[in-house]
Amino acid sequence: MKLILLGAPGAGKGTVAKLLTAIDGSVQISTGDILRGAVQAGTELGKEAEEYMKRGDLVPDSLIMGIMEKRLQEPDCEKGFLLDGFPRTIPQAEELKKLLERLGITLDKAVNIDVPREVILDRLCTRRTCENPECQAIYNVKSNPPKQEGICDKCGARVVQREDETEEAISHRLATYNEKTAPLIGFYEKEGLLLNVEAVSSDAVIEAIRKELGL
Ligand code: ADP
Ligand code: ZN
Repeated sequence: MKLILLGAPGAGKGTVAKLLTAIDGSVQISTGDILRGAVQAGTELGKEAEEYMKRGDLVPDSLIMGIMEKRLQEPDCEKGFLLDGFPRTIPQAEELKKLLERLGITLDKAVNIDVPREVILDRLCTRRTCENPECQAIYNVKSNPPKQEGICDKCGARVVQREDETEEAISHRLATYNEKTAPLIGFYEKEGLLLNVEAVSSDAVIEAIRKELGL
């Protein structure tokens, strides 16, 4: 399947993407994971992106488009892909449309995961992430803690609160989402690609997607 996953930070795009990869081997492409990996590795890209990310601002469209143009041409994308955290702005969506046309790729759907704001706020404050850039597993101190406190079940690295998950950075990220990313819902509706899913559990989102795509 070839999907865009839309939704506020904390809507569960990453979790849904991981569950979907198990259905048909499509790959998850998370621009946030790619950027955090680059920051930790200290690459040029990481150095450019770091300050924006710490503040909870979006990194410039040109940086993101460079990453995605390469990533979408890697062979593992042939089976399908789940775009998690991209596109994030109308210019990115317009560029993506042109890029996909050039590459001869057709999207199945843009899925908007619509979760109430209270749930989002609560989730983001209690979310913890594995700091190993190869893993980046997501936990929640209330609903899904690691078996051993502060240690990743999957890889044994430390599980930490992300630097952009302080209360101040979170409210800034949500404001950025409302201003820059929420308009993409209308964009994909006009394109005839929108699937809106109002759901709090990731399993319910998966069910809605399976039903729509007949999987
Ligand atoms: P979340 O969806 O939880 O906010 P992500 O892991 O998707 O977090 O992204 C973390 C940060 O990486 C964003 O706040 C932003 O600075 C940067 N980022 C990720 N994807 C994009 C994108 N498509 N365009 C611009 N910045 C991005
Ligand atoms: Zn881990």
